[in-house]
Amino acid sequence: MQTKKSLGQHFLNSPQTLQSIVVSGKIQKENVVLEIGPGEGVLTEVLLKTGARIISIEKDDRLIPYLQKKFEKEIEKKQLNLIHADILKIGLADITNGKYKVVANIPYYITGQILRMFLESDNQPESMTLLVQKEVADRIAAKDGKESLLSLSIKVFGNPKYIKTVGRNAFKPQPNVDSAILNIENISKKKLSGLSEKTFFEILHLGFAHKRKQLLPNLSAKYDKIILIKAFEKCHLNPKCRAEDISIETWIKLCTIIAK
Ligand code: SAH
Repeated sequence: MQTKKSLGQHFLNSPQTLQSIVVSGKIQKENVVLEIGPGEGVLTEVLLKTGARIISIEKDDRLIPYLQKKFEKEIEKKQLNLIHADILKIGLADITNGKYKVVANIPYYITGQILRMFLESDNQPESMTLLVQKEVADRIAAKDGKESLLSLSIKVFGNPKYIKTVGRNAFKPQPNVDSAILNIENISKKKLSGLSEKTFFEILHLGFAHKRKQLLPNLSAKYDKIILIKAFEKCHLNPKCRAEDISIETWIKLCTIIAK
C-alpha cells in the first residue's frame, strides 16, 4: 500500500521494537489496551498475543478492510474492537469505560494533541507507552536536567520515563528522525492536590512566557511582587531562578501559594 505522509504513516518493521513496546507497557491478559493508528496491524498483532482486549482506532479508510480481514477471528471473538475514526474527534468516554492503557506507534504530527487529550481527560489511562520522536522523548524526560512547558505538562499527571532509542531504520518508510519508546506511568490528577488545572497551567505558561527572563519577573506580569517574594521564600526558591530549573513538586507548591 502507498503510505500517506500526511497521516504520519511509518510502519514498524522491527520485531524487537514491537516486543520492547509491549514489555514496557507491562501488558497482561486482564488489560484493556487502546491503540492509536494500527496501520497494517503489526503492533496490534503483538498486543493481541498477550491476551489483552484491544481497541484500535485508525483514521485511514484504506486500511480498514485490510485490518478487518487480517484480524477477522479476533474481531469476531470480540478481543479486538477496530474503530474507523480520527482519534482527535472521538469521544474518549464513548470507547473506554473503566481502566485502560494506551500503547501506540502514534502519528508524530499529533503527538502533543494526543498527550494532552489523554492526560487531561476525565477518564485518564493508567499508563501510556508510545513511540515518539527521540527529541520529544528527551525533552519530556528532561534528560539534560532542564524542565520545559512540555515536560512539566506531562509530569503534573504522571511519571515519564525514557525507555530506549529506536533508530529510523526500524520503520518503513524511514522517517527523517530517530524515535524513542516513552512510558508514562502512575497517571492521575492527585499531584495537583486540589489546585485547579486551569490555574496551574496559567501560572506555568506565565512562568515560561519570556525564556530569557528569570521566573520572578515573568510572574510579576500578573502577580504582586511582594506576594511572589514571600511565596518564593516558602518554597525555598532563589529569587533569581528560572522556570526550567524548578521541579514539578515545587511548581505545584508555588502555584498553590500564589493562587490563594
Ligand atoms: N502502528 C502502526 C502504524 C503507525 S503509523 C505500526 O507501528 O506499524 C501511524 C498510524 O496512525 C497510521 O496508520 C495512520 O493512518 C494513523 N493515523 C494518523 N492520524 C490518525 C488519527 N488522527 N487518528 C487515528 N489514526 C491516525
